[in-house]
Amino acid sequence: MAPNMSFYDRFRIRHGSAVDLSAIPTDDDGNLDQKATQEATTKLIERIVELQELMYAEGKHSLLIVLQAMDAAGKDSVIRNVFGPVNAQGLNIASFKAPSAIELAHDYLWRIHSVAPRKGTITIFNRSHYEDVLVVRVKSLVPEHRWSKRYEHINQFEQLLEDEGTHIVKFYLHISPEYQKRQFMQRLEDPKKQWKFNPKDLDDRALWPEFQRAYEAALSKCSTDYSPWYVVPAEKKWFRNHLIASVIVDLLESLDMRYPKPDFDPSSIHID
Ligand code: ADP
Repeated sequence: MAPNMSFYDRFRIRHGSAVDLSAIPTDDDGNLDQKATQEATTKLIERIVELQELMYAEGKHSLLIVLQAMDAAGKDSVIRNVFGPVNAQGLNIASFKAPSAIELAHDYLWRIHSVAPRKGTITIFNRSHYEDVLVVRVKSLVPEHRWSKRYEHINQFEQLLEDEGTHIVKFYLHISPEYQKRQFMQRLEDPKKQWKFNPKDLDDRALWPEFQRAYEAALSKCSTDYSPWYVVPAEKKWFRNHLIASVIVDLLESLDMRYPKPDFDPSSIHID
């Protein structure tokens, strides 16, 4: 490995590169030892908690994390396991469903921009503006001449956020159709999980190859220096969590944040 290279660099997509998801294993574990990695992840998560507090104290930056995936790939589990310990006052989760009538009456970034993180906080997008070049493209919800312009809109929008102090990192949780089937079967067999199954999810499953092509285009066209995409092998949950936590800690550390100095002399303060 070259100096300053990290184990996760090979999962980062280069802008404009040809992405072939079928060539990227979904159950990769980087040859890491599971137990040692899980212990390391626990420490990384503690560091995320500290760094978010520092980000809040400093008040200059915010962090936007985009999670995209096929159904049952584990977006909710990432949010719970990696970000659960973060101070609830500094963490927001925005989940994007099919747009409402009022959302459809605006441009597709309107509902997105309004919930971007405020300074000092982390926002996780559980689905995102990328649905507007994924499901929208696959199901022809708008004509091609409209969705095809959106990659460029999205790059410009993300550049705007970055320029104004909102740092962005995007994770595609990569699973195989066989893995999805096993997850769906588990949901169907467990009375406490049946509610999670929506028979309509099978419609998207039937369009798996079309979704993969749409993901490949989005990953290639919209992975930039200022807002990279990572393809996360997501079938080994401990590796998935470790990769995501590692990327987040390194990104936050790179901001070189500092606690503000008090504008008074703490040693001069006497409290009776
Ligand atoms: P999740 O699967 O994320 O847990 P849901 O089962 O409620 O949540 O699925 C949300 C649905 O909303 C998905 O089918 C997704 O494709 C759809 N959706 C999200 N954004 C858009 C959009 N911009 N246009 C059309 N459908 C969308």
